[in-house]
Amino acid sequence: MEERLDVLIPEDSNSLVKDMDKCIQCGYCKNVCTNDITVARMYDIDKSRKPICVNCGQCANMCPTEAIREKFDYLNVKKVLKNKNKKIVFSVAPAVRVAIGEEFGLNPGTNLEGKIVTGLKELGADYVFDITFGADLTIMEEAMELVDRINNKGILPMFTSCCPAWVRYAEIFYPEILPNLSSCKSPITMQSSIIKTYFSKVENIDVKDIVNIVVAPCTAKKEEIRRKEVNKASKYWDKDIIDTDYVITTRELAMLFKEENIQLDKLKNSKFDSPLERGSSAGVIFGNSGGVAEAALRTAYFYMTGNNLKDDDIEFNSIRGMGSVKEAIVNINDKEIKVAVCNGMSNAKELIDKLLNKDVYYDFVEVMNCNGGCICGGGQPKVTMLNKMTTKKARMDGVYDIDSEDKLRLCHENPEIKDIYDKFLDKPNSELAHMLLHTEYENKSYLLGGGKND
Ligand code: SF4
Ligand code: SF4
Repeated sequence: MEERLDVLIPEDSNSLVKDMDKCIQCGYCKNVCTNDITVARMYDIDKSRKPICVNCGQCANMCPTEAIREKFDYLNVKKVLKNKNKKIVFSVAPAVRVAIGEEFGLNPGTNLEGKIVTGLKELGADYVFDITFGADLTIMEEAMELVDRINNKGILPMFTSCCPAWVRYAEIFYPEILPNLSSCKSPITMQSSIIKTYFSKVENIDVKDIVNIVVAPCTAKKEEIRRKEVNKASKYWDKDIIDTDYVITTRELAMLFKEENIQLDKLKNSKFDSPLERGSSAGVIFGNSGGVAEAALRTAYFYMTGNNLKDDDIEFNSIRGMGSVKEAIVNINDKEIKVAVCNGMSNAKELIDKLLNKDVYYDFVEVMNCNGGCICGGGQPKVTMLNKMTTKKARMDGVYDIDSEDKLRLCHENPEIKDIYDKFLDKPNSELAHMLLHTEYENKSYLLGGGKND
Protein backbone atom coordinates (compact mmCIF):
# COMPACT_ATOMS: atom_id res chain seq x y z
CA MET A 1 0.00 0.00 0.00
CA GLU A 2 1.27 3.46 -0.84
CA GLU A 3 2.47 5.40 2.20
CA ARG A 4 0.21 8.25 3.30
CA LEU A 5 1.86 11.65 3.30
CA ASP A 6 -0.68 13.34 5.55
CA VAL A 7 -1.13 13.04 9.33
CA LEU A 8 -4.19 11.53 10.92
CA ILE A 9 -6.34 13.79 13.08
CA PRO A 10 -8.58 12.18 15.73
CA GLU A 11 -12.24 12.63 14.81
CA ASP A 12 -13.12 13.76 18.32
CA SER A 13 -10.39 16.42 18.45
CA ASN A 14 -11.45 19.71 20.02
CA SER A 15 -8.39 21.43 18.55
CA LEU A 16 -8.17 20.44 14.89
CA VAL A 17 -10.33 19.35 11.97
CA LYS A 18 -9.40 17.80 8.67
CA ASP A 19 -11.06 17.93 5.26
CA MET A 20 -9.61 15.21 3.04
CA ASP A 21 -11.17 16.76 -0.06
CA LYS A 22 -8.70 19.62 0.25
CA CYS A 23 -5.61 17.47 0.83
CA ILE A 24 -3.05 17.46 -1.98
CA GLN A 25 -0.70 14.97 -0.23
CA CYS A 26 2.12 17.51 -0.08
CA GLY A 27 3.51 15.85 3.04
CA TYR A 28 4.25 19.05 5.00
CA CYS A 29 2.09 18.02 7.97
CA LYS A 30 3.60 14.53 8.20
CA ASN A 31 7.07 15.99 8.01
CA VAL A 32 6.55 18.44 10.90
CA CYS A 33 4.69 15.87 13.03
CA THR A 34 7.37 13.21 12.47
CA ASN A 35 10.53 15.27 12.67
CA ASP A 36 9.77 18.36 14.78
CA ILE A 37 7.05 17.12 17.12
CA THR A 38 8.05 13.40 16.84
CA VAL A 39 4.49 12.17 17.58
CA ALA A 40 3.91 10.54 14.18
CA ARG A 41 7.00 8.39 14.63
CA MET A 42 6.31 7.44 18.25
CA TYR A 43 3.24 5.25 17.77
CA ASP A 44 1.87 2.52 15.58
CA ILE A 45 -1.71 3.05 14.38
CA ASP A 46 -2.23 -0.72 14.13
CA LYS A 47 -1.69 -0.95 17.88
CA SER A 48 -3.27 2.33 19.02
CA ARG A 49 -6.26 1.95 16.65
CA LYS A 50 -6.84 5.71 16.94
CA PRO A 51 -4.63 8.59 15.79
CA ILE A 52 -2.53 10.10 18.56
CA CYS A 53 -2.23 13.88 18.63
CA VAL A 54 -0.90 16.42 21.13
CA ASN A 55 -3.08 19.12 19.52
CA CYS A 56 -0.23 21.56 18.87
CA GLY A 57 -1.52 22.47 15.39
CA GLN A 58 1.88 22.68 13.74
CA CYS A 59 0.35 20.55 10.96
CA ALA A 60 -2.39 23.15 10.49
CA ASN A 61 0.17 25.90 10.45
CA MET A 62 2.07 24.14 7.65
CA CYS A 63 -0.92 23.02 5.56
CA PRO A 64 -1.08 25.08 2.34
CA THR A 65 -4.68 24.17 1.47
CA GLU A 66 -6.47 24.46 4.86
CA ALA A 67 -7.11 20.70 4.71
CA ILE A 68 -6.09 20.77 8.38
CA ARG A 69 -7.10 23.78 10.43
CA GLU A 70 -8.06 24.67 13.97
CA LYS A 71 -11.60 23.78 15.01
CA PHE A 72 -13.29 27.16 14.73
CA ASP A 73 -14.75 28.63 17.89
CA TYR A 74 -14.84 32.21 16.65
CA LEU A 75 -18.28 31.73 15.10
CA ASN A 76 -19.68 30.82 18.53
CA VAL A 77 -17.88 33.82 19.97
CA LYS A 78 -19.49 36.01 17.31
CA LYS A 79 -22.93 34.82 18.43
CA VAL A 80 -22.22 35.21 22.12
CA LEU A 81 -21.00 38.79 21.60
CA LYS A 82 -24.57 39.72 20.64
CA ASN A 83 -25.98 38.47 23.94
CA LYS A 84 -26.39 41.59 26.05
CA ASN A 85 -27.38 39.58 29.14
CA LYS A 86 -23.86 38.22 29.48
CA LYS A 87 -20.63 39.83 30.63
CA ILE A 88 -18.11 39.06 27.90
CA VAL A 89 -14.54 38.80 29.11
CA PHE A 90 -11.54 38.36 26.82
CA SER A 91 -7.97 37.56 27.87
CA VAL A 92 -5.16 37.97 25.35
CA ALA A 93 -1.96 35.91 25.43
CA PRO A 94 1.43 37.63 25.01
CA ALA A 95 2.37 35.99 21.68
CA VAL A 96 -0.82 37.23 19.97
CA ARG A 97 0.14 40.91 20.15
CA VAL A 98 3.41 40.57 18.21
CA ALA A 99 1.96 38.45 15.38
CA ILE A 100 -1.63 39.47 14.57
CA GLY A 101 -0.41 42.53 12.69
CA GLU A 102 0.90 40.19 9.97
CA GLU A 103 -2.74 39.45 9.04
CA PHE A 104 -3.18 43.20 8.41
CA GLY A 105 -0.02 43.73 6.38
CA LEU A 106 2.22 44.88 9.24
CA ASN A 107 5.69 43.59 9.97
CA PRO A 108 6.10 40.61 12.32
CA GLY A 109 7.03 41.74 15.81
CA THR A 110 4.82 44.86 15.70
CA ASN A 111 3.18 45.14 19.12
CA LEU A 112 -0.58 45.73 18.68
CA GLU A 113 -1.53 45.23 22.33
CA GLY A 114 -3.48 48.51 22.67
CA LYS A 115 -5.25 48.12 19.32
CA ILE A 116 -6.37 44.57 20.15
CA VAL A 117 -8.03 45.92 23.32
CA THR A 118 -9.85 48.62 21.31
CA GLY A 119 -10.87 46.12 18.63
CA LEU A 120 -12.30 43.68 21.16
CA LYS A 121 -14.25 46.49 22.84
CA GLU A 122 -15.67 47.47 19.43
CA LEU A 123 -16.76 43.87 18.98
CA GLY A 124 -18.70 44.11 22.25
CA ALA A 125 -16.31 42.90 24.97
CA ASP A 126 -17.14 44.16 28.46
CA TYR A 127 -13.65 43.48 29.84
CA VAL A 128 -10.32 42.78 28.15
CA PHE A 129 -7.57 41.34 30.32
CA ASP A 130 -3.93 40.56 29.73
CA ILE A 131 -2.83 36.93 30.14
CA THR A 132 0.55 38.18 31.31
CA PHE A 133 -1.29 38.55 34.62
CA GLY A 134 -1.89 34.76 34.55
CA ALA A 135 1.74 34.26 33.50
CA ASP A 136 2.87 36.28 36.54
CA LEU A 137 0.67 34.10 38.76
CA THR A 138 2.19 30.98 37.18
CA ILE A 139 5.66 32.22 38.04
CA MET A 140 4.71 33.10 41.62
CA GLU A 141 3.58 29.51 42.10
CA GLU A 142 6.14 27.74 39.93
CA ALA A 143 9.20 29.56 41.28
CA MET A 144 8.00 28.75 44.81
CA GLU A 145 7.63 25.09 43.85
CA LEU A 146 11.12 25.05 42.32
CA VAL A 147 12.69 26.61 45.41
CA ASP A 148 10.83 24.16 47.62
CA ARG A 149 12.00 21.17 45.56
CA ILE A 150 15.61 22.46 45.64
CA ASN A 151 15.64 23.26 49.36
CA ASN A 152 13.80 20.14 50.49
CA LYS A 153 15.35 17.50 48.27
CA GLY A 154 12.21 17.19 46.14
CA ILE A 155 12.05 15.47 42.75
CA LEU A 156 14.38 17.15 40.27
CA PRO A 157 14.69 18.20 37.57
CA MET A 158 11.44 20.06 37.71
CA PHE A 159 9.89 20.44 34.24
CA THR A 160 7.71 23.40 33.28
CA SER A 161 4.06 22.53 32.68
CA CYS A 162 2.57 25.54 30.90
CA CYS A 163 2.52 23.97 27.42
CA PRO A 164 -0.47 21.59 27.11
CA ALA A 165 0.98 19.82 24.06
CA TRP A 166 4.08 19.00 26.11
CA VAL A 167 1.98 17.85 29.08
CA ARG A 168 -0.01 15.49 26.84
CA TYR A 169 3.19 14.24 25.20
CA ALA A 170 4.67 13.42 28.63
CA GLU A 171 1.43 11.73 29.73
CA ILE A 172 1.41 9.46 26.68
CA PHE A 173 5.07 8.83 25.87
CA TYR A 174 7.01 9.51 29.09
CA PRO A 175 4.67 8.81 32.06
CA GLU A 176 7.71 7.94 34.18
CA ILE A 177 8.61 11.64 34.35
CA LEU A 178 5.15 12.93 35.40
CA PRO A 179 6.34 13.42 39.03
CA ASN A 180 8.95 15.79 37.61
CA LEU A 181 6.35 18.08 36.04
CA SER A 182 5.51 21.20 38.01
CA SER A 183 2.01 20.94 39.42
CA CYS A 184 1.29 24.49 38.21
CA LYS A 185 -1.47 25.01 35.68
CA SER A 186 -0.78 27.11 32.58
CA PRO A 187 -1.22 30.92 32.62
CA ILE A 188 -4.47 30.64 30.63
CA THR A 189 -6.08 28.11 32.93
CA MET A 190 -4.88 29.97 36.04
CA GLN A 191 -6.30 33.22 34.70
CA SER A 192 -9.61 31.57 33.85
CA SER A 193 -10.03 30.14 37.36
CA ILE A 194 -9.32 33.60 38.75
CA ILE A 195 -11.83 35.26 36.39
CA LYS A 196 -14.57 32.87 37.47
CA THR A 197 -13.82 33.26 41.19
CA TYR A 198 -11.94 36.42 42.30
CA PHE A 199 -13.07 38.69 39.44
CA SER A 200 -16.67 37.53 39.72
CA LYS A 201 -16.57 38.37 43.44
CA VAL A 202 -14.86 41.79 43.25
CA GLU A 203 -17.07 42.96 40.38
CA ASN A 204 -20.15 41.35 41.93
CA ILE A 205 -21.12 39.50 38.76
CA ASP A 206 -22.91 36.16 38.95
CA VAL A 207 -20.37 33.66 37.68
CA LYS A 208 -23.05 32.09 35.46
CA ASP A 209 -23.34 35.40 33.58
CA ILE A 210 -19.64 35.50 32.66
CA VAL A 211 -18.53 34.25 29.24
CA ASN A 212 -14.77 33.84 29.44
CA ILE A 213 -12.92 33.85 26.11
CA VAL A 214 -9.18 33.39 25.62
CA VAL A 215 -7.21 34.51 22.57
CA ALA A 216 -4.14 32.30 22.19
CA PRO A 217 -1.44 31.45 19.65
CA CYS A 218 -2.17 27.82 20.39
CA THR A 219 -4.60 25.15 19.18
CA ALA A 220 -3.74 22.81 22.08
CA LYS A 221 -5.44 25.25 24.46
CA LYS A 222 -8.80 24.36 22.91
CA GLU A 223 -8.36 20.84 24.28
CA GLU A 224 -6.61 21.87 27.51
CA ILE A 225 -9.58 23.93 28.76
CA ARG A 226 -11.67 20.74 28.74
CA ARG A 227 -9.36 18.85 31.11
CA LYS A 228 -11.33 18.22 34.28
CA GLU A 229 -8.13 18.69 36.33
CA VAL A 230 -7.79 22.38 35.35
CA ASN A 231 -11.41 23.36 35.91
CA LYS A 232 -11.55 24.69 39.46
CA ALA A 233 -14.27 27.35 39.61
CA SER A 234 -16.95 24.64 39.67
CA LYS A 235 -15.36 23.25 42.82
CA TYR A 236 -14.99 26.70 44.38
CA TRP A 237 -18.66 27.63 43.80
CA ASP A 238 -20.06 24.10 43.78
CA LYS A 239 -21.77 24.96 40.49
CA ASP A 240 -21.80 23.29 37.10
CA ILE A 241 -19.56 25.73 35.21
CA ILE A 242 -16.43 25.58 33.05
CA ASP A 243 -13.51 27.99 33.68
CA THR A 244 -12.84 28.89 30.03
CA ASP A 245 -15.80 29.01 27.66
CA TYR A 246 -13.90 29.42 24.38
CA VAL A 247 -10.34 29.60 23.07
CA ILE A 248 -9.81 31.30 19.72
CA THR A 249 -6.47 31.44 17.94
CA THR A 250 -4.67 34.55 16.69
CA ARG A 251 -5.83 33.60 13.17
CA GLU A 252 -9.45 33.30 14.33
CA LEU A 253 -9.30 36.71 16.02
CA ALA A 254 -8.00 38.23 12.77
CA MET A 255 -10.92 36.56 10.90
CA LEU A 256 -13.37 37.92 13.44
CA PHE A 257 -12.03 41.46 13.06
CA LYS A 258 -12.06 41.22 9.27
CA GLU A 259 -15.59 39.80 9.10
CA GLU A 260 -16.80 42.64 11.33
CA ASN A 261 -14.92 45.21 9.20
CA ILE A 262 -12.57 46.23 11.99
CA GLN A 263 -9.30 47.44 10.51
CA LEU A 264 -7.08 46.61 13.46
CA ASP A 265 -4.03 48.56 12.38
CA LYS A 266 -6.06 51.79 12.11
CA LEU A 267 -7.48 51.68 15.66
CA LYS A 268 -6.37 53.85 18.56
CA ASN A 269 -4.74 52.22 21.57
CA SER A 270 -6.60 51.33 24.77
CA LYS A 271 -5.42 49.88 28.06
CA PHE A 272 -6.30 46.45 29.41
CA ASP A 273 -8.96 46.46 32.13
CA SER A 274 -8.43 46.11 35.85
CA PRO A 275 -8.20 43.98 38.05
CA LEU A 276 -6.27 41.63 35.73
CA GLU A 277 -4.78 44.46 33.73
CA ARG A 278 -1.18 44.52 34.57
CA GLY A 279 1.34 41.84 33.82
CA SER A 280 5.06 42.24 34.28
CA SER A 281 7.28 41.95 31.23
CA ALA A 282 8.57 38.70 32.77
CA GLY A 283 5.07 37.42 32.01
CA VAL A 284 5.31 38.75 28.44
CA ILE A 285 8.52 36.82 27.66
CA PHE A 286 6.58 33.59 28.31
CA GLY A 287 5.81 33.80 24.60
CA ASN A 288 9.42 33.02 23.65
CA SER A 289 11.34 29.79 24.06
CA GLY A 290 13.39 30.35 27.22
CA GLY A 291 11.00 32.98 28.56
CA VAL A 292 9.30 30.81 31.17
CA ALA A 293 12.62 29.66 32.63
CA GLU A 294 13.97 33.22 32.63
CA ALA A 295 10.88 34.62 34.36
CA ALA A 296 10.98 31.80 36.94
CA LEU A 297 14.69 32.38 37.66
CA ARG A 298 14.10 36.10 38.26
CA THR A 299 11.50 35.30 40.93
CA ALA A 300 13.28 32.19 42.34
CA TYR A 301 16.27 34.47 42.98
CA PHE A 302 14.05 36.77 45.01
CA TYR A 303 12.48 33.87 46.94
CA MET A 304 15.93 32.46 47.81
CA THR A 305 17.76 35.69 48.67
CA GLY A 306 15.07 38.23 49.58
CA ASN A 307 16.64 40.59 47.01
CA ASN A 308 15.85 41.43 43.42
CA LEU A 309 18.34 40.76 40.64
CA LYS A 310 20.24 43.88 39.65
CA ASP A 311 19.30 45.44 36.29
CA ASP A 312 22.53 44.15 34.73
CA ASP A 313 21.77 40.55 35.76
CA ILE A 314 18.09 40.42 34.93
CA GLU A 315 18.48 39.07 31.40
CA PHE A 316 19.54 35.42 31.02
CA ASN A 317 20.99 35.65 27.54
CA SER A 318 22.28 32.08 27.32
CA ILE A 319 18.71 30.70 27.34
CA ARG A 320 17.40 33.16 24.75
CA GLY A 321 17.36 32.67 20.97
CA MET A 322 16.69 29.79 18.60
CA GLY A 323 19.24 27.24 19.88
CA SER A 324 18.06 23.60 20.23
CA VAL A 325 18.86 23.05 23.91
CA LYS A 326 19.96 26.20 25.72
CA GLU A 327 21.65 26.02 29.10
CA ALA A 328 22.41 28.23 32.07
CA ILE A 329 24.09 27.65 35.40
CA VAL A 330 22.79 30.09 37.97
CA ASN A 331 24.36 30.55 41.39
CA ILE A 332 21.91 31.54 44.10
CA ASN A 333 23.00 31.52 47.75
CA ASP A 334 25.94 29.22 46.93
CA LYS A 335 23.56 26.78 45.26
CA GLU A 336 24.29 25.99 41.65
CA ILE A 337 21.06 25.63 39.65
CA LYS A 338 21.46 23.91 36.29
CA VAL A 339 18.84 24.96 33.79
CA ALA A 340 18.01 23.61 30.32
CA VAL A 341 15.58 25.05 27.80
CA CYS A 342 14.31 22.68 25.10
CA ASN A 343 13.28 24.61 22.03
CA GLY A 344 10.62 22.36 20.49
CA MET A 345 9.56 18.79 21.15
CA SER A 346 12.23 16.89 19.20
CA ASN A 347 14.90 18.63 21.28
CA ALA A 348 12.96 17.83 24.44
CA LYS A 349 12.74 14.16 23.48
CA GLU A 350 16.49 13.98 23.01
CA LEU A 351 17.13 15.64 26.35
CA ILE A 352 14.65 13.42 28.23
CA ASP A 353 16.28 10.29 26.79
CA LYS A 354 19.66 11.56 28.01
CA LEU A 355 18.24 12.43 31.44
CA LEU A 356 16.66 8.99 31.81
CA ASN A 357 19.99 7.48 30.77
CA LYS A 358 21.69 9.67 33.41
CA ASP A 359 23.99 11.15 30.74
CA VAL A 360 23.10 14.69 31.84
CA TYR A 361 21.77 16.40 34.96
CA TYR A 362 19.60 19.49 35.36
CA ASP A 363 17.57 21.04 38.17
CA PHE A 364 15.05 22.88 36.02
CA VAL A 365 13.96 22.18 32.45
CA GLU A 366 11.68 24.28 30.26
CA VAL A 367 9.85 22.49 27.46
CA MET A 368 7.77 24.21 24.80
CA ASN A 369 6.34 22.10 22.02
CA CYS A 370 6.70 24.70 19.27
CA ASN A 371 10.08 25.65 17.94
CA GLY A 372 10.64 29.26 19.05
CA GLY A 373 7.94 28.97 21.73
CA CYS A 374 4.34 30.22 21.62
CA ILE A 375 5.25 33.04 19.21
CA CYS A 376 5.40 30.20 16.65
CA GLY A 377 2.30 28.37 17.90
CA GLY A 378 -0.02 26.40 15.65
CA GLY A 379 -2.68 29.14 15.74
CA GLN A 380 -0.42 32.00 14.71
CA PRO A 381 -0.52 33.65 11.26
CA LYS A 382 0.97 31.35 8.65
CA VAL A 383 4.38 32.13 7.19
CA THR A 384 6.05 30.92 4.04
CA MET A 385 9.07 28.60 4.25
CA LEU A 386 11.14 31.45 2.87
CA ASN A 387 10.14 33.89 5.60
CA LYS A 388 10.00 31.40 8.44
CA MET A 389 13.25 32.21 10.24
CA THR A 390 13.07 35.98 9.79
CA THR A 391 9.45 36.03 10.99
CA LYS A 392 10.28 33.94 14.06
CA LYS A 393 13.19 36.22 14.91
CA ALA A 394 11.13 39.39 14.44
CA ARG A 395 8.34 38.07 16.70
CA MET A 396 10.90 36.99 19.29
CA ASP A 397 12.64 40.39 19.17
CA GLY A 398 9.23 42.09 19.48
CA VAL A 399 8.64 40.22 22.77
CA TYR A 400 12.11 40.98 24.17
CA ASP A 401 11.71 44.66 23.17
CA ILE A 402 8.58 44.84 25.32
CA ASP A 403 10.63 43.40 28.21
CA SER A 404 13.62 45.70 27.83
CA GLU A 405 11.39 48.80 27.63
CA ASP A 406 9.22 47.85 30.62
CA LYS A 407 9.85 49.16 34.11
CA LEU A 408 8.06 46.22 35.72
CA ARG A 409 10.25 43.21 34.85
CA LEU A 410 9.59 40.97 37.85
CA CYS A 411 6.36 39.03 38.43
CA HIS A 412 6.57 39.38 42.21
CA GLU A 413 6.73 43.21 41.92
CA ASN A 414 3.44 43.40 40.02
CA PRO A 415 1.07 45.44 42.26
CA GLU A 416 -2.01 43.56 41.00
CA ILE A 417 -0.34 40.24 41.81
CA LYS A 418 0.47 41.49 45.32
CA ASP A 419 -3.14 42.60 45.59
CA ILE A 420 -4.65 39.25 44.67
CA TYR A 421 -2.47 37.42 47.21
CA ASP A 422 -3.33 40.03 49.88
CA LYS A 423 -7.06 40.00 49.22
CA PHE A 424 -7.76 36.48 48.03
CA LEU A 425 -5.07 33.84 47.64
CA ASP A 426 -3.04 34.62 50.79
CA LYS A 427 0.40 33.43 49.61
CA PRO A 428 1.98 31.28 46.88
CA ASN A 429 1.08 27.64 47.41
CA SER A 430 -1.54 28.45 50.06
CA GLU A 431 -4.43 26.02 50.32
CA LEU A 432 -6.65 28.17 48.07
CA ALA A 433 -3.80 28.87 45.61
CA HIS A 434 -3.13 25.16 45.42
CA MET A 435 -6.78 24.33 44.84
CA LEU A 436 -7.29 26.94 42.09
CA LEU A 437 -3.90 27.15 40.41
CA HIS A 438 -2.41 23.65 40.49
CA THR A 439 -3.29 20.45 38.67
CA GLU A 440 -2.62 16.72 38.31
CA TYR A 441 -1.45 14.47 35.51
CA GLU A 442 -2.47 11.04 34.31
CA ASN A 443 -0.49 8.21 32.76
CA LYS A 444 -2.05 7.95 29.28
CA SER A 445 0.38 5.44 27.81
CA TYR A 446 -2.58 3.06 27.42
CA LEU A 447 -3.47 5.09 24.30
CA LEU A 448 -0.45 3.55 22.56
CA GLY A 449 -1.99 0.09 22.79
CA GLY A 450 1.35 -1.54 23.53
CA GLY A 451 4.47 0.59 23.93
CA LYS A 452 5.96 3.47 21.99
CA ASN A 453 7.92 3.02 18.80
CA ASP A 454 11.03 5.03 19.43
S1 SF4 B 1 -0.16 19.62 4.86
FE1 SF4 B 1 -2.36 19.69 4.31
S2 SF4 B 1 -2.38 19.33 2.09
FE2 SF4 B 1 -0.34 18.70 2.82
S3 SF4 B 1 -0.53 16.48 3.22
FE3 SF4 B 1 -0.97 17.54 5.16
S4 SF4 B 1 -3.22 17.79 5.19
FE4 SF4 B 1 -2.63 17.30 3.06
S1 SF4 C 1 4.61 26.00 22.69
FE1 SF4 C 1 2.94 27.43 23.13
S2 SF4 C 1 1.75 27.54 21.23
FE2 SF4 C 1 3.04 25.69 21.10
S3 SF4 C 1 1.70 24.04 21.87
FE3 SF4 C 1 2.92 24.80 23.60
S4 SF4 C 1 1.61 26.36 24.59
FE4 SF4 C 1 0.79 25.97 22.52
